[in-house]
Amino acid sequence: MTMSALGEPCVLLKLGEVVLKGNNREIFERTLQANIKAALKDLGFKVDVRQRHGVIALFLPEGSGVERADAVAGRVGYVPGLVWIHRAWRVAKDPSAVTKAAIELLADREDVRRGVSFAVRSRRRDKRFPLTSMELDRSVGGELNDIYGLPVDLKNPELVVSIEVDRDEVFVFTGGQPGQGGLPVGTSGRGLVLMSGGIDSPVAAYRMMRRGLRVDFLHFSGIPFTTSESIYKAYALVRALDRFQGRSRLWVVPFGKAQQSIKASGQDRLAVISQRRLMLKTAEEVARRLRARALITGDSLGQVSSQTLQNITAQDDAVDLPILRPLIGLDKTEIMAEARRIGTLEISELPDEDCCTLLAPRRAETAAKIADLKQIER
Ligand code: ATP
Ligand code: MG
Repeated sequence: MTMSALGEPCVLLKLGEVVLKGNNREIFERTLQANIKAALKDLGFKVDVRQRHGVIALFLPEGSGVERADAVAGRVGYVPGLVWIHRAWRVAKDPSAVTKAAIELLADREDVRRGVSFAVRSRRRDKRFPLTSMELDRSVGGELNDIYGLPVDLKNPELVVSIEVDRDEVFVFTGGQPGQGGLPVGTSGRGLVLMSGGIDSPVAAYRMMRRGLRVDFLHFSGIPFTTSESIYKAYALVRALDRFQGRSRLWVVPFGKAQQSIKASGQDRLAVISQRRLMLKTAEEVARRLRARALITGDSLGQVSSQTLQNITAQDDAVDLPILRPLIGLDKTEIMAEARRIGTLEISELPDEDCCTLLAPRRAETAAKIADLKQIER
C-alpha cells in the first residue's frame, strides 16, 4: 500500500474523436479498450481498464509505484484514439482527501520552490459530490496558496492542478502528455501499405493507422539483382510502426525478374511508371487475399517524376481498389519532421539498394500515357 496522502498511482486517458461517434461510439470504445489491453499485455503486471464517462482509467495492482504508471503511460502513448495521457493519483471521494493529495502533489517540486503561478481546475463527472467545481477550485486553491505561497493565475497558469471527480473516486494530477489523437486502429477497416525502405511510406502508414485503419505491409525487393538490405530496412520500419497497432505483418515480393522484363521492353522513359503499375496490381491481389480494402502509398504531388498528376492518374488506372495517399499535399520537410517524431527517420536514412535504382532512366517520363503503359504490359 502507498502510505502517502496521494492515494494510488494510476493513468487517466482522454479520448479524442471517439466521443463524437454517436451510435458507433460503443464499437469505438470497445476497439480502443482492446487496443489498449494489447499494448499493455506483456508489461508483466495486470492493468485494469475501466471505461468511464468520456475517459478511460487504468488501474494498477495494489501497492504499485509510479514506475509502473510511467511504463503504462509510455505504452499507451503510442495507441491512436487518445488525446491526453495523465499520470494521476486516485484518491477517496472526499474533499479533505482531495486537498491533502493536492498538497502532497506539489511538495518537493522545483517549480513550486521557484514560485510558479498556478490554478486549480476541477470538473465533476459525478455531480453528487458535495462541492461544486468552483467551490473545489477555491478551497483547494486557497489551501495551496496558504501552504506554498504561490500566486494564482487563472488565465495563464504555469502549473495546473487538475481534479476530476468520478463515479467511485477522484483523480488528482498535474500536467500530462499528448496522445497520438486520431481513431482506434481497426475502426476504419484494413489497408495494405506499399512500403519501400524510404522516408515517405512509413509516414503514410502511420497517418492511415491513426485514421483507424489496421494495415499490413508489402515490400518489393530487387532480389535476385540487389542485396537483401532493403528487406531488413522494411522489417525494421515495420517493427517501429508496430508500436502503434500491434500484430503487424510484412510481405516481401522478389521483384527483380519482373523489373528485368520491363527493362527488356525497351521503353526506358516509361519503365518507372510501368513498374509502379505492376507493383500496384500485385498489391491489389495481395490485398484481396488479406481482405484489405485500400492500398496506401507515400506519394506526394510533384516530389519526383513518378508523382506528377498525370503519372498518378496512370497509376490509379492500374487497379480498382482505392489508393490512399495521405502525404499528397505535404512538403518533404514536413514528412521528415513527422518521420523523426514517430521514430522511423533514422531507419529510413540507412543506406540500401532500392529496387527502383535498377530502372533509373536518364530521363523519366513526367506525363505517361496509359495506352503506352498498357502496350508494355502486354
Ligand atoms: P519513399 O520514401 O516511401 O520510398 P519516395 O519518395 O522514394 O517514397 P517513390 O520511390 O517514387 O517515392 O515511391 C512512391 C511510393 O511507391 C512509395 O511511397 C511506396 O508507397 C511505393 N514504393 C516505392 N518503392 C517501393 C518498394 N520497393 N516496395 C513497396 N512499395 C514501394
Ligand atoms: Mg522510395
